[in-house]
Amino acid sequence: MSLKSDQEILENSMHEDDPNGNSALEQTFTEKTAPRWGPQHKGAQELAQLYSPGKRAQEFICVYTCIALMIIDFVLILKHFHFDRIIVTCISAICGIITADFGSGLVHWAADTWGSVELPIIGKNFLRPFREHHLDPTSITRHDFIETNGDNFMVSIPILGFLAYCFNTKSHTDIQQDFGWISYLFLCSIFVAMTNQIHKWSHTYWGLPKWVLFMQNYHIVLPRKHHRIHHVAPHETYFCITTGWLNWPLEKLRFWSTLECLIEFVTGLKPRDDDLKWAKKVT
Ligand SMILES: [Zn+2]
Ligand SMILES: [Zn+2]
Repeated sequence: MSLKSDQEILENSMHEDDPNGNSALEQTFTEKTAPRWGPQHKGAQELAQLYSPGKRAQEFICVYTCIALMIIDFVLILKHFHFDRIIVTCISAICGIITADFGSGLVHWAADTWGSVELPIIGKNFLRPFREHHLDPTSITRHDFIETNGDNFMVSIPILGFLAYCFNTKSHTDIQQDFGWISYLFLCSIFVAMTNQIHKWSHTYWGLPKWVLFMQNYHIVLPRKHHRIHHVAPHETYFCITTGWLNWPLEKLRFWSTLECLIEFVTGLKPRDDDLKWAKKVT
């Protein structure tokens, strides 16, 4: 745990390398203008209050089910692992991590860009945290393990469940033949599950363990400076938040902007309409 107060974290992290110069606290207290982001933002406060006990229960169940499946699958993978499979296992694992990174980008982009908090079920439960995060990027550092990871752990449950099912129904020879696919799915689901924890670390400026800093510095997981690029309004690029490896190539390919143009052309919907609406909320 960090020894700094929430206010100190906000003050210092944003002053340090916020590319927009959005020093919300100075603005709030000296210029008396509405903050563009931070816990004082009216929209952020309203969104934070929408976190319900039902949502909490869903996250709680998902986290514990997912952890149980992770342990079961890991033990079964170790049991069936043969050293001569090391190369195929490594290649599959890296492909799994890249898939997880792409998946994080796709889901993050879709949730940031389309839909609204007013939508039934998904609005309050799954889009709300994305809106809140743009208005108050440091709120994630104050969320506990359950709130941070509940939704991502939920996505991994079917994949890990499927793997556990395969281990229990397939013969040893079949498992050996499919070991590449198994490694791919296992690493992919682990990184999908860990995505928001990695994302939380990318917003944490104090008290991170040395091994996390090492992984950030060597870009094994999403580095802090790298993720700042996404937090420049209007939040229209660098959506991948697992490792961030795909952000640069996807930006070069104009992947997200092309997809948005296409969707806008077909549906007439404006990208980031709801996100902008919340950003403007001051009363
Ligand atoms: Zn975002
Ligand atoms: Zn973020």
